[in-house]
Amino acid sequence: MFKQGKAPPREISIDKAGDFLERVAQSFFTVDGHSSRKLMPYPHDPFKRPALCMKYSHLSVKDRLDNLHEFSDWEKNFFESNTNTFGSALGKDTAFTGALRWYALGGNSMAGLFEMAVFYKIENGCMTSFARAILGDYKGDMLFGAPIKDVTQNKLGVRVTTKSGQDIKARYVVSTIPFINCLGDVKFDNPVSPIRQSAIRKGHINKGAKIHFRLKATEPGYGHLGDKENHRQIIDHFRKDIHPSAAVEAYVTHDWTNDPYTKGGADWEVGWRGFVDGAIEQGHQAPQSVVAALKLELRPKLIQMDTWLWGSQ
Ligand SMILES: Cc1cc2nc3c(=O)[nH]c(=O)nc-3n(C[C@H](O)[C@H](O)[C@H](O)COP(=O)(O)OP(=O)(O)OC[C@H]3O[C@@H](n4cnc5c(N)ncnc54)[C@H](O)[C@@H]3O)c2cc1C
Repeated sequence: MFKQGKAPPREISIDKAGDFLERVAQSFFTVDGHSSRKLMPYPHDPFKRPALCMKYSHLSVKDRLDNLHEFSDWEKNFFESNTNTFGSALGKDTAFTGALRWYALGGNSMAGLFEMAVFYKIENGCMTSFARAILGDYKGDMLFGAPIKDVTQNKLGVRVTTKSGQDIKARYVVSTIPFINCLGDVKFDNPVSPIRQSAIRKGHINKGAKIHFRLKATEPGYGHLGDKENHRQIIDHFRKDIHPSAAVEAYVTHDWTNDPYTKGGADWEVGWRGFVDGAIEQGHQAPQSVVAALKLELRPKLIQMDTWLWGSQ
């Protein structure tokens, strides 16, 4: 189902939609004769030289679509409605390079991207069962309901202070506080770089939410559904914009945009940024860099110990 502007929803088969998307994507992601593979050969390391994509970093998705003349407005709008789901934002506010990163991660095809990003769900409870499995594996200390207020550091280590005034000290700290939207709420005595500070001031464009509907019959569909707490409006919008005859039995959502500890999200990863996979990727890398730093600190002591042992013989 695709709805363009005020026009009534139009049904389009999955196969036809797939063909349209691939055709537009092929042209959209090929700029000045450079294919997407050439523009961003390493989406997990997008700045790796020559990083041809950076030449087009000023373009929005909308700018790029406006430069394509071989497609109808309907085809371009249909394509944009799909890229809008990448950052929960319109094409005019979505970076061309951001869309390109998703496409490259999906193996340079829209079908590949959707197969990786959308089709599969974790069975038996989705993210809740996944979070419970992580908690089940975890053996360390845990502290809940303790928002962090300040992070200070010196040569001896890091001190983290909670809003209630509790101090926690450690040699190293790994921060997972959502980068652009929430990091500005925590005071760091050793602040992030000026370019990151300017990103924090601007905030992330993603103000999206996900609403899961339980229908009598299974239907595909995405949409912008307004005030998340207005039940009547949400169900009316669903009927009007997505499926007029669907019997909505229930819906569940969370207002991530107004959640003070998410504010719509904005994560740290390089590759699958905006995905749980990316959080896992980063969660794997951050402790490794702490281990590497600790090893570096230990090395001189080992050398000293060595010298001492040799000296004593
Ligand atoms: C509407 C929506 C839909 C999404 N859909 C998908 C999807 O279908 N598939 C997918 O893979 N990804 C999806 N994502 C993205 C996914 O949720 C994130 O990529 C992932 O949660 C990032 O993990 P994280 O650990 O980096 O950050 P988060 O999960 O945001 O965790 C950060 C933690 O820091 C805590 N925190 C923040 N500030 C403080 C503070 N001051 N003190 C203490 N703690 C603090 C927060 O409470 C939170 O627990 C979606 C995101 C949104 C918003």
